[in-house]
Amino acid sequence: MQLACLDLEGVLIPEIWIEFSKRTNIPELSRTTRDEPDYDRLMKGRLAILEQHRLGLPDIQKVIAEMGPLPGAREFLDWLRERFQVIILSDTFYEFAMPLMRQLGYPTLMCHKLEVDASGFVRDYTLRMPEQKRESVKAFKSINFKVIAAGDSYNDTAMLAEAHAGILFRPPQNVIDEFPQFPVTRSYDELAAAFETASRAI
Ligand SMILES: [Mg+2]
Repeated sequence: MQLACLDLEGVLIPEIWIEFSKRTNIPELSRTTRDEPDYDRLMKGRLAILEQHRLGLPDIQKVIAEMGPLPGAREFLDWLRERFQVIILSDTFYEFAMPLMRQLGYPTLMCHKLEVDASGFVRDYTLRMPEQKRESVKAFKSINFKVIAAGDSYNDTAMLAEAHAGILFRPPQNVIDEFPQFPVTRSYDELAAAFETASRAI
């Protein structure tokens, strides 16, 4: 039995923080795991900037509600779900992701939770566990699934390495250079072909 584990942002939907940064004109919010591999440092910085600008969850959700999946993402995901059990492993938060999950047909999503106070300000975040992407793949392997994983950035590389096969999708050059062992795909057709190749190989 084979599982497909997918990253979310940069693979099926745009980077939420980059989009939010553009619409609010706060360039400091456009940093992502592509720029800062230390996720806790990245998130603490984001929360401080939000507080400084008095921006709460409703402001963020308003932006997200206007975003859609990447062009072709829904079709690719439907294709994948016909062939594999698909689990999305993301470092985003349920509060951000749900409006977009509806547009993707509510695939299974494992991510994190925000702590929001009564006036809508994001006070903190709760990681369900550290290194959840890699630990999830490890757990699926322990119950006898073969895992093929795909993602686009630093925070996916441990998951890709833990899986029986890992695939990069539209990664930045520094990730390609540091992780030459993973095949690089640039379109959903290429990603689908890489899943088929990996599926035969594992
Ligand atoms: Mg990503």
